[in-house]
Amino acid sequence: MDIQNLLEDIVGAVQPHIGQGSVANYIPQLGAVDAHQFGVSLVTRDGDVFSAGDAHVEFSIQSISKVFALALVLASDGDRIWKRVFREPSGNPFNSLVQLESEEGIPRNPFINAGAIVVTDRLLSLTGNAAHAVRDLMRQETGNAGVDTDHHVAGSELANGHRNASLAHFLASCGNLENPVDDVLDSYAKQCALAMTCEDLALATRFLASNGLGGDGTLLLSPAQTKRINAVMLTCGTYDAAGEFAYRVGLPGKSGVGGGIVAVVPNKCAISVWSPGLGRSGNSVAGVAALDEFTTRTGWSVF
Ligand code: GLU
Repeated sequence: MDIQNLLEDIVGAVQPHIGQGSVANYIPQLGAVDAHQFGVSLVTRDGDVFSAGDAHVEFSIQSISKVFALALVLASDGDRIWKRVFREPSGNPFNSLVQLESEEGIPRNPFINAGAIVVTDRLLSLTGNAAHAVRDLMRQETGNAGVDTDHHVAGSELANGHRNASLAHFLASCGNLENPVDDVLDSYAKQCALAMTCEDLALATRFLASNGLGGDGTLLLSPAQTKRINAVMLTCGTYDAAGEFAYRVGLPGKSGVGGGIVAVVPNKCAISVWSPGLGRSGNSVAGVAALDEFTTRTGWSVF
């Protein structure tokens, strides 16, 4: 298969969707991003890299960071985190408070905000600096020492983060935080505010397409842990539209409100797409269309 041609075809095919939806505007830095951009990158399990469109433009990875924080916690702490967070789709928006009370402070999954805050809390206990741990994993897997937090975005997240603060305080009231609320929120905002390109993200996600093997040949996760992260991405990775994403794309994936999505074809490749216009559930409209096109043309879905 000529992957470079395929990606260029996809850039052409998604043109009508680019700019559709609306750009996240809960903080000014995200609201100011030009919606008329689209990038795609694919990294094979052997490390070959293909890119098309705006694949070298940095964007805010936001919730995509949640996958990498979870990978780090599983790698160093095994299954302990699953006592503090469930693995079920929520069917509610990513920042919802409603299920947290009825489930006594155990978030539905690690990819909604409440669950990700618990994972970041654990990573903070394990490493002393959760945001740096996620950043350093990104730097290691991309080979790009310039990967860093956009501190304007992180600062704005914290200044406007009443919803996340209320989730964190509720978790603390249930005894499900180990660190001070403000420290956890600070780490969480900084990991979400990492600025990366499509190409960076596809490289960083490659270990999930290679049974946990990192770019330098070291095992970041066991094959069994890799399988489990991919399963949680499939069922919980795209907000309250995980069913629709499975239907259209058929791959484990994780989206962020910056308009990025990473997806994994187990044992074949990692693929990332970015276009800032979001649909109703917070997933990039052109990004989902591109991944739909990708699996439909290649037949590379898990189904
Ligand atoms: N930092 C964002 C928040 O917690 C992440 C949103 C997202 O990408 O889902 O509100």
